[in-house]
Amino acid sequence: MVRHGWCGHLCPVGAFYGLIGWKAPVRVVAAQREKCDDCMDCFAVCPEPQVIKPALKGADKGVGPVILDINCTNCGRCLDVCSQDVFVFGTRFANATGAPAGARPVRQA
Ligand code: SF4
Ligand code: SF4
Repeated sequence: MVRHGWCGHLCPVGAFYGLIGWKAPVRVVAAQREKCDDCMDCFAVCPEPQVIKPALKGADKGVGPVILDINCTNCGRCLDVCSQDVFVFGTRFANATGAPAGARPVRQA
């Protein structure tokens, strides 16, 4: 059973937003994944935590840093919670270009 499975899989509104997110050019990128200290905070706040690991931990398998999984809704919770600033918003093409460029929202004090 997927935690918060109702929101992303069963609720029609959640599924609709999921489809929009899947096609969106803007994606979450684990641009500085080498800085990850394995605190697991992003996994704790993500409504679909299984989408994180490939982009975050797949470097040795040749997996790019862009989270392309359809179940990532670009909610941004992982960006907000990561103390190492691993994640940024970038484009879905960052895997192909190898460019980790992206924009990170300004943290609220
Ligand atoms: S919140 Fe940041 S440092 Fe913690 S596990 Fe996630 S990516 Fe790594
Ligand atoms: S943007 Fe939201 S759904 Fe996507 S990986 Fe981050 S916390 Fe999870």
